[in-house]
Amino acid sequence: MAALSHNFDKNFALVVGAGISGATIAERLASAGRRVLVVDSKPHIGGNCHDYRDNNGICVHSYGTHIFHTNDKAVWDYLSAFTKWHPYMHKVLANIDGAEVPIPFNLNSLNQLFPRSLASRIEKRLLGKFGFGVRTTILELRESDDNLLKQLGEFVYEKVFLHYTLKQWGMKPEELDPAVTARVPIFVSRDNRYFRDKYQAIPRAGYSAMIGKMLGHENIEVRLNTPFSAIRNDIPAETPIFFSGSIDEFFDYELGELPYRSVSFEFAEYDREFFQSVACVNYPCNYDFTRIGEYKHFLGDKSPKTVVSFEFPSAFERGKNERCYPISSPENATLYARYLAKAEQDTPNVHFHGRLGDYRYYDMDKAVGRALALADEFLSQK
Ligand code: UDP
Repeated sequence: MAALSHNFDKNFALVVGAGISGATIAERLASAGRRVLVVDSKPHIGGNCHDYRDNNGICVHSYGTHIFHTNDKAVWDYLSAFTKWHPYMHKVLANIDGAEVPIPFNLNSLNQLFPRSLASRIEKRLLGKFGFGVRTTILELRESDDNLLKQLGEFVYEKVFLHYTLKQWGMKPEELDPAVTARVPIFVSRDNRYFRDKYQAIPRAGYSAMIGKMLGHENIEVRLNTPFSAIRNDIPAETPIFFSGSIDEFFDYELGELPYRSVSFEFAEYDREFFQSVACVNYPCNYDFTRIGEYKHFLGDKSPKTVVSFEFPSAFERGKNERCYPISSPENATLYARYLAKAEQDTPNVHFHGRLGDYRYYDMDKAVGRALALADEFLSQK
């Protein structure tokens, strides 16, 4: 690797990671007049949001389905400067006992799966206890003192959450941080959408194009296939560094390894127009994969063929697969906090952020919101 021939003056900043977090920081700093070098070990920008148009003209997400949704107008407005949007409301079905029912589990799912008279009794109880349009969680429903609702809770727990969560996390739902399964509520309504956010859309030219535009600022240089370790010794000690990789890796695992879940994607092309009726079908109880994503649904791509991905979760293993999900637990939070304290002490010029850097299960909008706040904070100090 050639040594860096940079002018490392006070105006220079290094951004490690060209994903949606790194691109946001880089763009904000560049627009404020900083010179920014962005490095990424991958051969492409976009991190795990990367997508590409395949030879059928279908926009495929390289690391599984990514659906942008937010209630944060500032984030929506910010990204809208770099992309036009294709309005898209995500719908997910789960294959339960051979029937495909809406997820989050709602009154429509109930009526599809239960005999009519039982479904209507349960529906009345749900409306009586929670009211129409109200969301609850699987954990809350299972603890209900109403026997019928408790039975529904047990059914949804077994058919929707238990086996999916065992595949996805290697743990039972009750062993996980409750916030994880609460991402997918039980919804006392007939709204079949996965998200209820005000803004829901897919970048019209794809995520890579949007992130490429963010990184296209004249003050930004991007170097791909460049791990931080390859340039670390060339960077003067006081250089501001924005690091969206994993904090344990930054410190060479000195205090131990932060665990993650990984996912491997098996892509398949089919010689038919559609594989399934919606972009995502979950298989909680069958197979070793958790879900199948079909990409042409997102942007309405037209092709006689279709491309899908099967998601196989596993533990993250260094050098073997990608870090996809931090695992929220008190022990992991403690280890992360020890690394952060070390960073504050030893490397105050390094700012950790992003799903890996903060070790938080961020959605894309939260990652962008966090990077915008970090950029503001940094620029206001100088
Ligand atoms: N989940 C589940 N069954 C489902 C969908 C979700 O058990 O059909 C649980 C599972 O533990 C999953 C979590 O809810 O990891 C969050 O789901 P989400 O769809 O938000 O996961 P992501 O899209 O971020 O992988």
